[in-house]
Amino acid sequence: MPQYAEVIIDLVSNAVDRPFHYSIPEEMQGKIKPGLRVEVPLGNRRCQGYVLRLPRETAVETLKHISAIIDPEPLLTSEQLALSRWLSLRFYCRLIDALHAMIPASFRKGRRPGEIKVVEPTELAGGAELKRAPAQEKTLELLKQKGSLPRPELIRLGANSQAIRSLEKKGLVRTVTAVTGPSDPDKEDQDRPSLTKPHLLREEQAACFARIKTALDDKKPEKMLLHGITASGKTEIYLQGIACCLEQGRTAMILVPEISLTPQMIEHFEGRFPGRVAVLHSRLSVAEKNRQWQMILNGRAKVVLGARSAVFAPLEKIGLIVIDEEHETTYKQEEAPRYHARDVAWWRARHNRAVLLLGSATPSLESYYEATEGAAVLLKMKERATPIQLPPVNVVDMREELKAGHRFIFSRLLLDELSGVIERDEQALLFINRRGFAGFVLCRECGHVVRCPSCDVSMTLHMDRQIMCCHYCAHETAVPTTCPGCRGTRIRYFSAGTQRVEEEVKKLYPEVPLIRMDRDTTAGRHAHSLYYRQFRERKANILIGTQMIAKGFDFPDVTLVGVVAADTTLNLPDFRAPERTFQLLTQVAGRTARGPRGGRVIVQTYHPRHHSIVTAADHDYLSFYESELENRRQLAYPPYSNLLRFLFSGPDEKAVFDAAVWLTDRLEAAVGGAEILGPAPASLYRIKEQYRVHTILKGKELIRLAPALKKVVREYHGRKTPDPVRLAVDFNPQVVL
Ligand code: ADP
Ligand code: ZN
Repeated sequence: MPQYAEVIIDLVSNAVDRPFHYSIPEEMQGKIKPGLRVEVPLGNRRCQGYVLRLPRETAVETLKHISAIIDPEPLLTSEQLALSRWLSLRFYCRLIDALHAMIPASFRKGRRPGEIKVVEPTELAGGAELKRAPAQEKTLELLKQKGSLPRPELIRLGANSQAIRSLEKKGLVRTVTAVTGPSDPDKEDQDRPSLTKPHLLREEQAACFARIKTALDDKKPEKMLLHGITASGKTEIYLQGIACCLEQGRTAMILVPEISLTPQMIEHFEGRFPGRVAVLHSRLSVAEKNRQWQMILNGRAKVVLGARSAVFAPLEKIGLIVIDEEHETTYKQEEAPRYHARDVAWWRARHNRAVLLLGSATPSLESYYEATEGAAVLLKMKERATPIQLPPVNVVDMREELKAGHRFIFSRLLLDELSGVIERDEQALLFINRRGFAGFVLCRECGHVVRCPSCDVSMTLHMDRQIMCCHYCAHETAVPTTCPGCRGTRIRYFSAGTQRVEEEVKKLYPEVPLIRMDRDTTAGRHAHSLYYRQFRERKANILIGTQMIAKGFDFPDVTLVGVVAADTTLNLPDFRAPERTFQLLTQVAGRTARGPRGGRVIVQTYHPRHHSIVTAADHDYLSFYESELENRRQLAYPPYSNLLRFLFSGPDEKAVFDAAVWLTDRLEAAVGGAEILGPAPASLYRIKEQYRVHTILKGKELIRLAPALKKVVREYHGRKTPDPVRLAVDFNPQVVL
């Protein structure tokens, strides 16, 4: 009988980021199992913790007893425990961060399913103006991010109860009772969507499906990339793959980007596998989430459909994991644990001897490269399942507009087409990338943008010091007064945002109803679906939006898509900027030509010859892939290397730099051949009063070096410094700003 238990303390702190040993008292013998939640003494307090292992021996001499068992059954499966250990090493997080990713927050609070009160934002929250009430603003911001939260959780995250009360008075938030636990089965039956039948597969689809079925039958872990153009019928393949998996008595998981988890999407899966689908996403209320989780735990759910974090769902006997739109950045979590769902899914596929199926019309360079190198099986679909045609794409050269004396943010072609849409009472989408970055400088005559010679990212203007700076390697140059490309003098800052576009459209067409969708206007929980419905019901002719309208807005009357400024994405100071631009243009192009009236796309840019734009306009993924891969190879960016980013942040500028220098010096000894960039100020140098500085490691061997690097990180956290500087370590970051 094991005498000892290795426990991870449930405190998010570097000081306790290691297993602690306890002895098991007589009366708990045989009841303590890995994954169980227990109460243990730590110093002179009591803490919650999770049992990791039951070692036969211990080197610790004076052991304390486990004080109590919290739940009768383990909260974590052995697979989840093993996965946590791997996660903390690969993605440089604390073990407790990894464990927290595996369990919904409401389960962790020691509350069994029952009735709880949660605070949620109301429909009015979107337009709230709270500049003069920072505490309220912060509270509301938290709620907008998290959807709904129990009051104590909200306060733990930094809200104060006075602010919550004021927000309630203003009608911006409300408290509702949420019921956790299993719901009324009769009610469930009423909501059940109608059954849908499988399609007879087209030839291409059948070939891809056959290959997937072989892999499922073999029960060997295999990674596959399904590269299929939009509307080639990838979803049907996922559905039939899942059906095949269920027949084998195994379970399946399908991940989709948060934003495409629409009610229609959910109906699709519930219609095919009624009563057996658990749905997980961040807009669920606490009660709903608990209920879905229970369905998985008690084995009723055989299929999990969810966004990124659903990859941790405690499904057993997984046969198939699908990641749809695998190139999406939302699969990377930006806070600890900073994992990529693709990597976690592949770990679980290997653990379960399952198939991992990645699907996309524009695969990430990393995945496509793996497929060409034989690390994944490549499946292709080049034809559409429906008679929808790919729309013609016109690229408008904004330099020519200027030469013709036309300085407006809309080109003459876009203006013409827009008025046509309005005359014919059709619909148009105007697309602006809000992630766009105003810091780059552009010559309006030739389109030239100053780029770093060694990193090939755009350099950022710093007004205060009148210099241009590379935010990867810290290289600086003077601000040019004449364009290095054409000797012209019309060098300008670049700016365009959704609000600005809205104002201009209103000036042009004061009578035409329009909707603006960006993070500001869609903060409320239901705002997104409200606008979606309004546009579908044709209450507006024009929809202006950010990438959130690049997906799912499939309406037959949309006959025009205008990309107002392709350059905002193209010139992000990030090495993935060309890839993001290609993906985005391809995606927005798919939003038109869905009905009998056809449609067209207009892309405005100062770089009409850029390979991202040319190949996207030609709907030519392979050409894009080949030219972009060559760029990556020349500068040894992924997939030719891995990156590891150390991001330092804090309120004291000097302390942040000192910390970065301290760690970077130590990295030099630890990394061997890997290249070290920085420390350099991050592109977003100052966010919310915090200065941000980063060092980036680039190398093929980073995975092998992880133990040595982790040791350096530990030393960093062990330093005794007066003002601690936050360190975030990010393996293969998707956004480097
Ligand atoms: P993708 O995910 O590749 O963009 P979808 O799965 O959305 O494409 O498929 C596009 C449309 O084609 C859907 O309406 C789907 O129902 C339909 N479809 C898919 N496969 C077939 C098929 N074999 N026969 C007829 N229609 C199909
Ligand atoms: Zn540089």
